[in-house]
Amino acid sequence: MIKQDIFMNHVIKTGLNTCWKWRGAKLKHGYGRYSGGLLAHRIAYELLVGPIPESLLVLHSCDNPECTNPKHLFLGTHSDNAKDMVSKGRNRHPDQTGLKRSDETKAKISAAVKRTWESKHAPA
Ligand SMILES: [Zn+2]
Repeated sequence: MIKQDIFMNHVIKTGLNTCWKWRGAKLKHGYGRYSGGLLAHRIAYELLVGPIPESLLVLHSCDNPECTNPKHLFLGTHSDNAKDMVSKGRNRHPDQTGLKRSDETKAKISAAVKRTWESKHAPA
């Protein structure tokens, strides 16, 4: 289990809506790396937002791979990720992903979130 206070020691929080930079180790593409080879933004999401369904990615609306601000993180599928990159290439805006999801994708994501949440919070 990752301790939130220890994890947050590696995060440079400059404001509520700014990018929270990672001061620890980084991977080749700029993603923050936490101990055990875990990705910092995924841990941030799990600690500060909630569990990540197995099939989903944590994407950055700010396009800043080392950012760990939960406000800049959202769940998506692999195909969202590809579409998101394409839309960002045309129109870079830090607060907008420009992502257009089909209803099917939206339903898949919310069902996966619900299942994961329920499995982690189920009574023993
Ligand atoms: Zn950010």
